[in-house]
Amino acid sequence: MGGAEQEGILLEMGNAGQEAIIAEAEEFVKTEIRPYVNEFEENKGIPLDLINKMAEKGYLAASFPEEYGGLDLDPIYYGQFTEVFGKACVATRSLLTVHTSLVGETLLRFGTIEQKEKWLPQLASGQQIAAFALSEPDIGSDAKNVQTSWYEEDDCYVLNGTKKWITFGHIASMFIIVAINNGKSTAFLVERSSPGIETYPIEGLMAGQATYLAEIQLNHVKVPKENVLGKLNFGFEYVVATALDQGRYSIAWAGLAIAQEALEAMVSYSHKRTQFNQKLRNFQLIRGMIGDAVTKIHAARALCLKAGKLRKEKHPDATMETTIAKYFTSKVAVEVANDALQVHGGNGFTKDYPVERLYREAKVLEIIEGSSQMQQEIISHYGLRNYYKRGKRS
Ligand SMILES: Cc1cc2nc3c(=O)[nH]c(=O)nc-3n(C[C@H](O)[C@H](O)[C@H](O)COP(=O)(O)OP(=O)(O)OC[C@H]3O[C@@H](n4cnc5c(N)ncnc54)[C@H](O)[C@@H]3O)c2cc1C
Repeated sequence: MGGAEQEGILLEMGNAGQEAIIAEAEEFVKTEIRPYVNEFEENKGIPLDLINKMAEKGYLAASFPEEYGGLDLDPIYYGQFTEVFGKACVATRSLLTVHTSLVGETLLRFGTIEQKEKWLPQLASGQQIAAFALSEPDIGSDAKNVQTSWYEEDDCYVLNGTKKWITFGHIASMFIIVAINNGKSTAFLVERSSPGIETYPIEGLMAGQATYLAEIQLNHVKVPKENVLGKLNFGFEYVVATALDQGRYSIAWAGLAIAQEALEAMVSYSHKRTQFNQKLRNFQLIRGMIGDAVTKIHAARALCLKAGKLRKEKHPDATMETTIAKYFTSKVAVEVANDALQVHGGNGFTKDYPVERLYREAKVLEIIEGSSQMQQEIISHYGLRNYYKRGKRS
């Protein structure tokens, strides 16, 4: 059973309009992205022309309502849509993660009517490219304690500090930037054209060289008061928590995408390669890896679909199930990509085969949007609270 059939059975899906969008996206990825992925990496960035083409198709706003120029995909179809891009290209998938999920969907949730009307159509049309700036050189997992600061001055707020690891930061024209004042954080919508902003590309990455990763320096950057996103002093509790939840959902599907692509490569290669006068697929130890990969991927897909269904229903458990899905699929992506490379032997160690790329791309999923250890912390708190049988011996 493939992904689509599993989705059909688990969720009784069947929205022809949304399915047509996914099918068209598959075609788009096949012709516009897949053949050029290595080129994107070598050129250290996806072409701006490709971003414009994605915008023209509505892909930069795939999950936004139509009134803002979006395709109105529900969370389940948006997950599948993310998978389509993630199978082929980490950079375009990353653009969807930061631009559409982290920034766009957070704006949808917390933006004022004026903010939404101003920014969302511009994000949809690609007129603005957005990035999410939380992490810093000295602050990663401990994100409540960012050091970038803000203070009030007349009719604006003034930001100072350094942000690091900002995906698409080098070409973004607007950012959500999280800064602190008196121990309390606030999220700001910041335009790149504001005086005092400099970005510097981050080089030497293991994967994702085409994602325009950047460090951002903020030197007395003035932000108009109407550009506070959500409430002043509640940046972490509302905006950051929501943005990371959206990001984790995207990364859950990104992990599934890498694992699925690696499995398909592993299976195809085992059908083609002959050793000891037999196809690799005939060796039990190879079949063991394939069997494990299929099982893990089906489990990972079930978790993604469950998270998607709960998100669609706005169920209170949606965030926890998203965390569980992100934790699990990123682990599965690393394991399956590792086994897929193993099945390819020496060939897998070269850029001639996609498993080399998948192996490198999988790792970062265990680090971003909250590392696996942070997810374990969250999930274990949930477990300790929910699976404690009071008064019983076990
Ligand atoms: C390719 C890439 C893209 C990124 N994109 C963005 C972006 O767009 N925007 C953005 O804001 N950030 C981005 N980041 C930053 C990312 O979110 C951080 O790297 C991540 O939060 C981890 O922080 P850190 O790297 O500082 O690691 P640290 O927090 O220093 O952690 C180091 C290790 O210690 C572990 N650890 C830390 N605290 C604990 C604890 N309490 N218990 C157990 N283990 C712990 C971690 O799990 C990790 O294994 C990106 C990073 C990368 C590599």
